[in-house]
Amino acid sequence: LSPVPSDLEISRGQTPKAVDVLAKEIGLLADEIEIYGQSKAKVRLSLLDRLKDQADGKYVLVAGITPTPLGEGKSTVTVGLVQALTAHLHVNSFACLRQPSQGPTFGVKGGAAGGGYAQVIPMEEFNLHLTGDIHAITAANNLLAAAIDTRILHESTQTDKALFNRLVPLVNGVRQFSSIQLSRLKKLGINKSNPSTLTEEEMTRFARLDIDPTTITWQRVLDTNDRFLRKITIGQSKTEKGFFRQAQFDIAVASEIMAVLALTNSLEDMKIRLGRMVVASDKKGQPVTADDLGVTGALTVLMKDAIKPTLMQTLEGTPVFVHAGPFANIAHGNSSVLADKIALKLVGEEGFVVTEAGFGADIGMEKFFNIKCRASGLVPNVVVLVATVRALKMHGGGPSVSAGVPLKKEYTEENLQLVADGCCNLQKQIQIAQLFGVPVVVALNVFKSDTRAEIDLVCNLARQSGAFDAIPCHHWSIGGRGSIDLARAVKEAANQRSHFRFLYDVQLPIVEKIRTIAQKVYGAKDIELSPEAQTKIERYTQQGFGNLPICMAKTHLSLSHEPEKKGVPTGFILPINDVRASIGAGFIYPLVGTMSTMPGLPTRPCFYDIDLDPKTEQVKGLF
Ligand code: ADP
Repeated sequence: LSPVPSDLEISRGQTPKAVDVLAKEIGLLADEIEIYGQSKAKVRLSLLDRLKDQADGKYVLVAGITPTPLGEGKSTVTVGLVQALTAHLHVNSFACLRQPSQGPTFGVKGGAAGGGYAQVIPMEEFNLHLTGDIHAITAANNLLAAAIDTRILHESTQTDKALFNRLVPLVNGVRQFSSIQLSRLKKLGINKSNPSTLTEEEMTRFARLDIDPTTITWQRVLDTNDRFLRKITIGQSKTEKGFFRQAQFDIAVASEIMAVLALTNSLEDMKIRLGRMVVASDKKGQPVTADDLGVTGALTVLMKDAIKPTLMQTLEGTPVFVHAGPFANIAHGNSSVLADKIALKLVGEEGFVVTEAGFGADIGMEKFFNIKCRASGLVPNVVVLVATVRALKMHGGGPSVSAGVPLKKEYTEENLQLVADGCCNLQKQIQIAQLFGVPVVVALNVFKSDTRAEIDLVCNLARQSGAFDAIPCHHWSIGGRGSIDLARAVKEAANQRSHFRFLYDVQLPIVEKIRTIAQKVYGAKDIELSPEAQTKIERYTQQGFGNLPICMAKTHLSLSHEPEKKGVPTGFILPINDVRASIGAGFIYPLVGTMSTMPGLPTRPCFYDIDLDPKTEQVKGLF
């Protein structure tokens, strides 16, 4: 239709097929799905066993140029591409997308189901509770948070003996360790399984975690943009006996448990990762883990359904997995390894799995390769790099834009000079993808105001910069048929031999890994470590965490650390202010500037427009 209706109107205009019909179409057995309502189902991991001898399909990553407030359309391209592949070229394909946080849904950003005629439907279910994975993460995260503070309180009020006796209860008159407690004993080097044989010193060592409250890094989480929880004081009730301390809430998707979910390969692996999450240090400076707190089993129970990807569909009835959605700065910003693995089996050797990385290629794609592919062992075949004429104009020096203010004429009228100047950012992102040895197809997401000359200019410059091909796409306005050329180009690129390689060896010292990313990917002259960053690097190395991959927490709005520097900044020194670690997820994350882990609401948040018609039960105003 012209003009293109709202995302919600388009989504509602199409009745999704029943999810059990979709499941059958893509080769799932009846006992491999758990249906939630009419259009969503969780898929059991047992499928990976059944299809273990099936060859994987081709693995395609959608990444973007450096994001601008004008929006580039990575999700839209991802959905448009699978619609073109499956519904128009009759090639099996799957899109694997992140589950959005509800914070931004009611705040500023809007949805993440794609847009126009390239969407996942029903978009309101996609954008709201889905199948409850984020709620499960919230529950698990906060159980662990409660376990930490409560343990400190109990250790302070009980004698060693009383503490030990409470922690190791009598079962049929005999004191017995649980399996988690047995592994803690092993870690402490106490090779005994009968509690009555422990010496007093061993009992004390076992029972007392001696957490140093000033070192607690584990925060409480909530999936609401609530800025007033950025700094709080907990434990103010008299019952907590003066054990109050400053703490904070993060948005739920910033929880390390979300990153664990996204990187895990199986239920066993998830349990190991949850158990090794470091939450604080003890008074001797040794890491304290979820295992030490005895909470790993309970966390795994809370996460047992969240580990299964959720099956949905595009507007054109092609399959989609929605699974995990970690932050793209303090975490790696990619959907789950498990969804990709299952989808790669389901599409078969000739099929395609298209997944998306958050932010620009310098961040989302770099982390996809160096963190996610390292965790999964999967080898990508093609990168699709999304650009828009409008965003390139901004990189070329176009004026800034503000919400609610109409776009200036630079963005609505032809301006070849601005486009040509901004293509440096596209060229740099192509070069970054090439560092990993994967062919790049540029997808130019066409907006109504783009002119033929502007489109040709971008595509020609992209090809000259080493892209395998560059294709204008019209999926937003006409659906999958608007991306058929892109789908053909991706198919052709996937037939090239992939020379995929990691950017760095994880065995290199932490500083060297950070420097490699800063110089080779961002184009920095060098890095500068704050004294705090230096101390943390030494501590993590000494604790045995030096061989983890790096997850840079940097602004996504520039290749440098300064968001206002568009295009391709050069000659800058990247400041590393602090370094933190997500040991369960399996990465070290250096902080380049301050990263907010709890967004706030603007003056006029999206919730003003959201409503429910009680008669039809229809949601209104979701974009
Ligand atoms: P990203 O994944 O890069 O954040 P999305 O794909 O979510 O971007 O798109 C952001 C917004 O821009 C969506 O609301 C979408 O409908 C809109 N959009 C995307 N492509 C186009 C286009 N070609 N024309 C108009 N609007 C578009």
